Amino acid sequence: MTDLLNVDTALERILAQIEQVGAEEVDFSEALGRVLAVDVYANLNLPPFANSSMDGYAVRAADIVSTPVVLTVGMDITAGKVAERGLESGEAARIMTGAPMPEGADAVVPVEDTDGKWDSQGETPASEQVTIQKSVQAGAYVRSIGEDITEGQLILTAGTLLRPQEIGVLVGLGEAKVKVIRRPRVVILSTGDELLGVGEPLVPGKIHDMNSYVLAGLVTEYGGHALRLPIARDTLDEIRTLFKTALMQQPDMIISSAGVSVGAADFIRTVLAESGEVDFWRINLRPGKPLAFGQVQGIPFFGLPGNPVSAMVTFDVLVRPALLKQGGRNQDWSIAEAILTHDLQSDGRRSYIRVKLESKEGKLYATSTGTQSSGALTSMVMADGLLIIPEDLIDVKAGIALSVRLLHK
Ligand code: AMP
Ligand code: MG
Repeated sequence: MTDLLNVDTALERILAQIEQVGAEEVDFSEALGRVLAVDVYANLNLPPFANSSMDGYAVRAADIVSTPVVLTVGMDITAGKVAERGLESGEAARIMTGAPMPEGADAVVPVEDTDGKWDSQGETPASEQVTIQKSVQAGAYVRSIGEDITEGQLILTAGTLLRPQEIGVLVGLGEAKVKVIRRPRVVILSTGDELLGVGEPLVPGKIHDMNSYVLAGLVTEYGGHALRLPIARDTLDEIRTLFKTALMQQPDMIISSAGVSVGAADFIRTVLAESGEVDFWRINLRPGKPLAFGQVQGIPFFGLPGNPVSAMVTFDVLVRPALLKQGGRNQDWSIAEAILTHDLQSDGRRSYIRVKLESKEGKLYATSTGTQSSGALTSMVMADGLLIIPEDLIDVKAGIALSVRLLHK
């Protein structure tokens, strides 16, 4: 096995050649799941003004130290409105949740602790006086200015994944757009005389091109912008044209599947040798031993194996980390430990076995999905995870605890 390249070494070599792509400004409606490109400092206080956290009466706390006490209702302050004058001593202002506190008031008494009556529309009937039944401390039910965010504060750092709450904060700060890392543009190529386009009727000897859709899905899932090109036939001319078309898409990465083994029709290798610097690696990995990696006119290029499961596994192990790095995303491997429920034979390569997982009494158990053929994509449909059998382990016994790469979010 010494002539096979170790998986971790391959990944290190790949990542050493990958750089983060640039930034772009997007509307907030498109910002979910994107990666913030800049540090964000607050340019204002939030809330921008002291306001009531309850429907009730704004008062001076000193006026209601002993209760019950009757105050004159001098004004109404609804949300969105600013009081025209300050609150006098002995006076209360009807105030709604979120409405600005009037000058002079330092606390709010919730309507439940008064004899104020609010009708079903949430409005008070006109009443000149209100009896406060419970006293409150200064500051009660008041959200002070800058309570959430203080002007000048570092709020979010570059590299943050934007979830709904981060988007809300940025919108609250008055931003109109947000600067995020561009989605890496990933061109996906399929080659093969046997391949039919989606929906084309099946004829003898042919199969549908599954890989370009599988790979496009994976690219999208990990934050890339997938661009699928039409299938190229196994001729030098078509594959040359395919590469020209790929390079015209301003790609950040190019991924092909199939044609990287040593078959007679494997023209990808020839065209790559003409147009770029690409290494052909035999990786100590199963499924997915043959793999090409390098650069074509400065663009990182991955030539994945043609078998759909091999394409998926090599994507997961080697392309996904590269794509995440380009997109400025965390390298989040969801790994768990599981106990194998049956014996397994491996071949000494690092193997990714499709398994179903079952949790019993706090422990996770892994069972093979059945066929482990690299052409059987249903093994990925059934799988909850990829059980990782380390290099040089041949007789894998039931009961052994191994790492599982989880496939579910
Ligand atoms: P190759 O690397 O070209 O020898 O292909 C290996 C296997 O993968 C063959 O059985 C191909 O038919 C199959 N294959 C190649 N490309 C695709 C594709 N786009 N979708 C599904 N299967 C494919
Ligand atoms: Mg082929």
